[in-house]
Amino acid sequence: MTLIDALRVRRSQGRQYIADPLTAMPQGFRGRPRLAAGACGDGCDACVTACPTAAVTPAPLALDLGRCTLCGLCAEACPDGRIGFTAEPRMAATTPAGLIVRPGDAATPVPEDGALARLFGRSLRLRQVSAGGCNACELELNAAANVNFDVQRYGVEWVASPRHADGLVVTGPLTRAMAAATRLAWDAMPAPRVLVAVGACAISGGLYAGSDALDRALLDDVTPTLYVPGCPPHPLTFVVALLELLGRARP
Ligand code: SF4
Ligand code: SF4
Repeated sequence: MTLIDALRVRRSQGRQYIADPLTAMPQGFRGRPRLAAGACGDGCDACVTACPTAAVTPAPLALDLGRCTLCGLCAEACPDGRIGFTAEPRMAATTPAGLIVRPGDAATPVPEDGALARLFGRSLRLRQVSAGGCNACELELNAAANVNFDVQRYGVEWVASPRHADGLVVTGPLTRAMAAATRLAWDAMPAPRVLVAVGACAISGGLYAGSDALDRALLDDVTPTLYVPGCPPHPLTFVVALLELLGRARP
């Protein structure tokens, strides 16, 4: 292949990276739920019954993104079409309360943390621990660093050792088998440090909430700085949340 051929190939491939993750909207993605205002039918609890993770509460209607696996069963079950899903990937929050979606709610940005922005706004090193995850969250986090999402252009990188990390990204429901290793990784990290819970499993236990096989004591002791919902989360959900938290979303 000549140089000219190589340049032709590059040109035909076009631009592969997402120029602005903050405004990007995925195609064919079931993202942020949208709940319609209004009264439900008398005694209706079809969505509550359909939900496998007890993410929906009726009267008043609300949906907890920390539990939701985005399976869509509640929307299928609702006779009045009050629950739907948008392609909006922006769903993260800094508190569990921020993960509750109510009728009429729109996506709100993750609030910037001034102290974290000063410390890590230009460089954030993260160690990922799969604490009993199915590998879906891990795959999407891996994708966050690929050519499309390219979170590294913002100074966010994965590192192999927790000693080199500024933050721990936990996926999976925190099984007993992984409890000690996850705690070890956190304890090995120098302060200041952040804990990021990624996926319904890490945030709430997800489908495995209440299982005897879990040991979620770490999350009782350490409050996550950031909750990134999804099952698994879209890479944009993770990338945008970090940019907003670290003040990189300012115009
Ligand atoms: S989409 Fe979420 S809230 Fe709806 S049934 Fe599935 S897990 Fe429950
Ligand atoms: S949202 Fe739909 S399924 Fe759920 S209680 Fe209301 S009417 Fe019933």
